[in-house]
Amino acid sequence: MIKSKILIDKVNNKYFDLKAEKYAVKRYNDEILSANDEYVSLENKLGEVKFLLAKAEYLEDNDQIKKLSTEVEVYKKMIETLKNSLPLAPVKYECNLCKDTGILNGKRCKCYYKYLTNFALESLGVNEVKGGDFSKLIQSPALIKQFKVIKNYADNFPNTQINNLIFLGNVGTGKTELAKCVLSSVKKRGYIALFLTSTELNSIFIKMHTSEVDRNLIYDVLSEADLLIIDDLGTEPIYKNVTVEYLLSLVSNRIEKGKHLIITTNLNDLELSERYNERFTSRILDKSKSLYVPFISEDFRIK
Ligand SMILES: [Zn+2]
Repeated sequence: MIKSKILIDKVNNKYFDLKAEKYAVKRYNDEILSANDEYVSLENKLGEVKFLLAKAEYLEDNDQIKKLSTEVEVYKKMIETLKNSLPLAPVKYECNLCKDTGILNGKRCKCYYKYLTNFALESLGVNEVKGGDFSKLIQSPALIKQFKVIKNYADNFPNTQINNLIFLGNVGTGKTELAKCVLSSVKKRGYIALFLTSTELNSIFIKMHTSEVDRNLIYDVLSEADLLIIDDLGTEPIYKNVTVEYLLSLVSNRIEKGKHLIITTNLNDLELSERYNERFTSRILDKSKSLYVPFISEDFRIK
């Protein structure tokens, strides 16, 4: 879990702002309501009936309980109807599940992780990627097996059989599309998932390398996100002392922590080991830790 105090404070402030907004709306509405004689009188009557109901419940007077319960409902409905006829400001929630409290059934609501992800992306200086939808993909007959493996990974996340997937294959074989489907599926279930192109990641590494200030925060985000997807590995320029070193450190750190990783690449395993160093290759290409998912284009199949 992302521990950066800066980001957690930002999320907490977000909930604080949302709460303040609701409070302002409530005060505005309360003023209108308290100036309405009919409303005040109905509320008073409801209060009286509720009091009598509590008394009847204490005395276990079932006939009275039944009669008064019905009356409570009648008054509540009358109040509701009256409220609907008044020019009250609507209370809108960003999250209807938790009503913007960030807590649902004693646990953190999904919106908490959504805000945390957004602030994490903001700190990395990258935009949110539009995810994919497994159900909307046109399944190529050549990719049925791959589709099944990847869908299974997304459905079982984080309890997957293997933590790391490497999608290997030529341009235009659907690797990125499927990676985006995993991204959406994992995010929808309330996990923090980041999708970065290798070029974006490389720029982030440069930022870490040159700025003391951002380094810890960025490293926390990259290494603690539940899922990291690196798209198109091998297309980024190699910066001396940065690209390979930071990539190795990040990937090793995530593997050690048992965090999930998906890499898509146009390179084959031989080209990968040539481009990056031996240590990186032995880490990431270790078949006991990573599953290779080959994407073969249909053209290739026909040949
Ligand atoms: Zn929520």
